Amino acid sequence: MKFVYLDHAATTRPADEVVEAMRPYLSERFGNPSALYSLGRRSRSAIEEARSEVASLIGADPDEVYFTSGGSESDNMALWGTLIANDGEGGHLVTTNIEHHAVLETAEFLADHGYEATIVGVDGAARVDPADMEEAIRPDTVVVSLMHANNEVGTIEPVADVSRACRRAGVYLHTDAVQTVGNIPVDVDELGVDLLSISGHKLYGPKGVGAIYVRNGVRISRFIQGGEQERGMRAGTENIAGIVGLGAAARLASSEMSAKVERIARLRDRLVERLTGSIDEILLNGHPTERLPNNAHFRIRRIEGEAICLHLDTVGICASTGSACSSEALEPSHVLMAMGVPTIEAHGSLRFSLGRDTTEEDIEYVAENLPPIVERLRAMSPL
Ligand SMILES: *Cc1c(COP(=O)(O)O)cnc(C)c1O
Repeated sequence: MKFVYLDHAATTRPADEVVEAMRPYLSERFGNPSALYSLGRRSRSAIEEARSEVASLIGADPDEVYFTSGGSESDNMALWGTLIANDGEGGHLVTTNIEHHAVLETAEFLADHGYEATIVGVDGAARVDPADMEEAIRPDTVVVSLMHANNEVGTIEPVADVSRACRRAGVYLHTDAVQTVGNIPVDVDELGVDLLSISGHKLYGPKGVGAIYVRNGVRISRFIQGGEQERGMRAGTENIAGIVGLGAAARLASSEMSAKVERIARLRDRLVERLTGSIDEILLNGHPTERLPNNAHFRIRRIEGEAICLHLDTVGICASTGSACSSEALEPSHVLMAMGVPTIEAHGSLRFSLGRDTTEEDIEYVAENLPPIVERLRAMSPL
């Protein structure tokens, strides 16, 4: 049976180059980077090389990049670190209601523990109005967090516009760029951000490794105590193989970016065209133009997203639904709720996210297999 993986927003397959680069560091090059002998120094230089690759992908200086355990840790660190470093001089943050849970739940946690958070809403396309963000900034605001692109519906947020408001107010801007770094060009100066989160496994690197960009001069406390690794910013013996893998993924992303974006967007457009042309009552969610090139997020009326996913799996297609496929709670997605999608329609959501290996044949295969599945499920549906 054909296997078509269209869930790249959930995770990506590590590229062959990435696995090759990592291999020695899982085996003979195992030295502790803090050691003084050459085996250790070799690990140290591999880490610094990876740091340069990641910095170069986002237009940063290498000394502004710190390795973490992934996107979630980077998001946590950005909010905690800036608030704690500012202790005594205000503890308010601003974010939106479509952020990844790593930001949203951190904001809620901090608000339960002596800090304050303002959560700004979005429009029907999941886009925030920069004026609403600016209005939420107070004299005691320390940091504003706005994701670069939403992981569910793919909408790209007006980060550079919000940056201007943050600069005027003298507050830090953090962006969760986990869905954009490697997928579209990202430059920390063009975006005007002070902090930025990256995850290895969303850009053809390994899981369990990520990075945070911290602009020089930003006051931030360390998040993990207990050692002087990462120039005192994050304790713990480095995940060398993971870091080397992230570096290799960043190098690969830089080299194939221009050709990749256009090709993937063309395939995505074709998928949208084919499915909206052959299925009744199907709508594209998110912004029509300001969206990730690899994201196609639909809602299909009178049908359950989980049921579609399971049926797609039987023909070898991996897709995801925004309505908590794996959860028993069947809570509709907070992003669709924030967009004002009716609950019953939110349950019929289906996300395809394309990747560097996606082919024209893959798109054809989905376009042939999805319509009959929808038809069959609707015939059985009580909705
Ligand atoms: C996947 C993802 C994360 C979490 O990254 P991990 O490396 O899995 O912790 C954070 N934010 C966004 C937008 C994501 O898509």
